[in-house]
Amino acid sequence: MTRLKRRLGREYRTMMCMVDIYCRDHHPGERHRPCLRCLRFLEYAEQRLHKCPYGQRKPVCARCPVHCYKRAQREQARKIMRYAGPRMLVRHPWYALAHVADKLRRVEHPMDIRRRKAGRTATRVPGRKPR
Ligand SMILES: [Zn+2]
Repeated sequence: MTRLKRRLGREYRTMMCMVDIYCRDHHPGERHRPCLRCLRFLEYAEQRLHKCPYGQRKPVCARCPVHCYKRAQREQARKIMRYAGPRMLVRHPWYALAHVADKLRRVEHPMDIRRRKAGRTATRVPGRKPR
């Protein structure tokens, strides 16, 4: 897999930090860090980032309308974020702040991405609320 760049790369590194925080406190006594289970999760997360239809315009996952994670991984992600999220501000303030900034970005509707990729200018469907 090619390395994730720019915003996607940062998002992946943010994820690595969060998994590290979570893993240390929840899976003590593991020989490797992150432990094998958490490493699998990170690999999955990386693969999802690579396949994100938004590419570098990716919104934060919490605001994304796509929901690309499978149920089990999504549950795992939620647990990790809930635990590591608040701790990120102290441990990795830059990533935490960058994430807050990303949260404020406008989320593109999946149909608009399709239109953009097809090379047409985005036209609003009448009657649909702009997002
Ligand atoms: Zn772990």
